[in-house]
Amino acid sequence: MIRREFLKTSVTAGAYAIAGVPWSAAAGAEEPWFDRPMRWAQLVLVENDPGRFDPDFWLDYFKRIHADAACLSAGGAVAYYPTEVPLHHRSAWLDDSDPFGYLVRACRKMGMAVIGRTDPHATWDNVHKAHPDWIAVDSNGKPRRHWSNPELWVTCALGPYNFEFMTQVHREVMELYGLDGIFSNRWAGHGTCFCEHCRRNFKAFCGMDLPRTSDRHDPAYRKYTPWRIERLRELWFLWDRTIREVRPAARYIPNGFPDNVVTGRLSDIFFTDHQGRRGVIPPWSNGKRAKELRATMGMKPLGGIFSIGLEEAYRWKDSVQSEAEIRTWVADGTANNMRPWFVKFGGVIYDRRWLDVVEEIYDWHYRCEPYLRNIAPLARVAMVYSEQTERHYGGKRWQERSSGHELGMYHALVEARVPFEMVNDRLLDAEHLKPFKLLILPNVAALSDAQCEQLRQFVQRGGSLIATFETSLYDEQGRARKDFGLAELFGVSYDDGVEGPMKNSYLRLKADSQTDRFHPVLDGLHDAYRIINGIWRLNVIPRLEFPSPVTLIPSYPDLPMEHVYPRTPETDTRELYLREVNDSRIAYIPWDIDRTFWEIMNADHGKLLRNVVNWALNEKPVVQVTGRGLLDVTAWRQKRSMTVHLVNLTNPMMMKGPFRELIPLDCQGVQIRIPRNTTVKKVRLLVNGTTPEHQIADGTVELTVPAILDHEVIALDLAAS
Ligand SMILES: [Zn+2]
Repeated sequence: MIRREFLKTSVTAGAYAIAGVPWSAAAGAEEPWFDRPMRWAQLVLVENDPGRFDPDFWLDYFKRIHADAACLSAGGAVAYYPTEVPLHHRSAWLDDSDPFGYLVRACRKMGMAVIGRTDPHATWDNVHKAHPDWIAVDSNGKPRRHWSNPELWVTCALGPYNFEFMTQVHREVMELYGLDGIFSNRWAGHGTCFCEHCRRNFKAFCGMDLPRTSDRHDPAYRKYTPWRIERLRELWFLWDRTIREVRPAARYIPNGFPDNVVTGRLSDIFFTDHQGRRGVIPPWSNGKRAKELRATMGMKPLGGIFSIGLEEAYRWKDSVQSEAEIRTWVADGTANNMRPWFVKFGGVIYDRRWLDVVEEIYDWHYRCEPYLRNIAPLARVAMVYSEQTERHYGGKRWQERSSGHELGMYHALVEARVPFEMVNDRLLDAEHLKPFKLLILPNVAALSDAQCEQLRQFVQRGGSLIATFETSLYDEQGRARKDFGLAELFGVSYDDGVEGPMKNSYLRLKADSQTDRFHPVLDGLHDAYRIINGIWRLNVIPRLEFPSPVTLIPSYPDLPMEHVYPRTPETDTRELYLREVNDSRIAYIPWDIDRTFWEIMNADHGKLLRNVVNWALNEKPVVQVTGRGLLDVTAWRQKRSMTVHLVNLTNPMMMKGPFRELIPLDCQGVQIRIPRNTTVKKVRLLVNGTTPEHQIADGTVELTVPAILDHEVIALDLAAS
């Protein structure tokens, strides 16, 4: 290949520094670069790419799609530049070429930000021989061969391989190329490592031996999680400091970190590695990951990595996903403020079908960029998620599959077309909760006294609350309380008992016996004498008077069929506790409505949740969208405009299997509340490219979106009034 000649390099250390001055001195006080890039391109090279792949093809493509940042393979398991770090494995196809440097220089010429990718998780026999203690060790004391590639070894993430060797690699890459940052894949280890360093360091941390189980009740395992997080935080710090010494504006960006609050605190920019769907992952899942991180990172830039190939356990990364699948996944990320980031594995193309798809998405994104530079979400509803509940809750039968509470609630909110954010339970201070009127706690079981107090204060400030099942029945360490930490807010106490799994338990729905009026939580359900109950319910004691639109019909036998009739057709046991305190509304649901919804997807549970949300919100929603289909709705503020994203998730393949085709939705009626002190100058549909007919009255814009294929964005240009 002539390519190799072409890439021939005369690189020597420091060659890319400005006139021989080291980057740190030359750079001075650079402007932060993090917020500039809007569209990322990632090319992950394979070892035999050098000399075989055509870098100019990729550079042309980056230009054509208006990519303004690139992530390129630098080193780690394989180096794509002429490294001088001892034991750093150069690609066997490298010869005297420098494909990494060639791409970096060309991208910089195009004005792109460039970060280098390293992968420290695997290494070679000669490294194992020279430094046996750099290799991960299994619970039997044996060094770990790579699970997928028997030529290689798995490295220890928390020992000298990362702390010393990879630090040298990162320093060298920065000194040679002065990048904007370094991004490491698979940097945080694969399972517990029992090497001499890990055993010694863990003992020094807590005086115990490394845990041999991942049982969350094992005292050693309970220490292991904080120890690992702390060790990884130190590593992040070390690599970040190392590369900033070379160039102050550069950042180390880990691929994932096991704690979102720490991530939010440490990062100036972050990327999510949630590349696509498989199995029954719902199509809104990309947006969910964005919401989780926004809860701790705020509006710092977030790249959403998506794979153009399949994301399956059996790999097939050289394949191509369907156009419908790629477009929907990226649209849901964009609607949730992620900046698109495609990743292509291997420099050689075996299937070209994705190229035009990504070009079309990026080209639209480029043309609409000012409307995609969001400064704040406009959602007034937030769902609380709890990493501490995830870590410390569980062990009882009714606590199995507890992730279903969050997923079911999330799905119900999407189905109800409610724009919403997520909130991390360790950030419940007034500042973080300020944008919200309604907080939803889907079985947020583990809450400290201080967190419960923050929630009480939120309600005192006029906020509303919805909580389900065992919310606040445990403290932050997962120790059971005698009563809910939020008993006072719920107006309800725990009565020491959980019933289930229930069969044939129902909910009695009825109008108020005195006024004969239906409570708003029964909208659309007036003709239903009863609907199905959940699977597990808590026994509780009301401490106040409550309305009774939804009461319990106790479980009765399910066989023989002759015996299937309600023994007690009616009780006054509430299955929904509704309270009003000034402007605040509080709904406590003592059963697993959210998890049952995730399992059964019963439409009545979806309606009931939607109604409870509307009732508790107790104000005119920011956006209301009526029409057929399943839409993910988000609303954003930019400097001089606001936008409403509508992502069409309606698809026969929604629940399993990749989308085959995009199925357009017909007209949707939309009402948008205009931000206070502004007037609307112009209304545009950014995908359709037209100005829709609209009316403006009472601080609301009303319009019709004629059709939505995968994604539509309603943009309102605003002026101060
Ligand atoms: Zn180790």
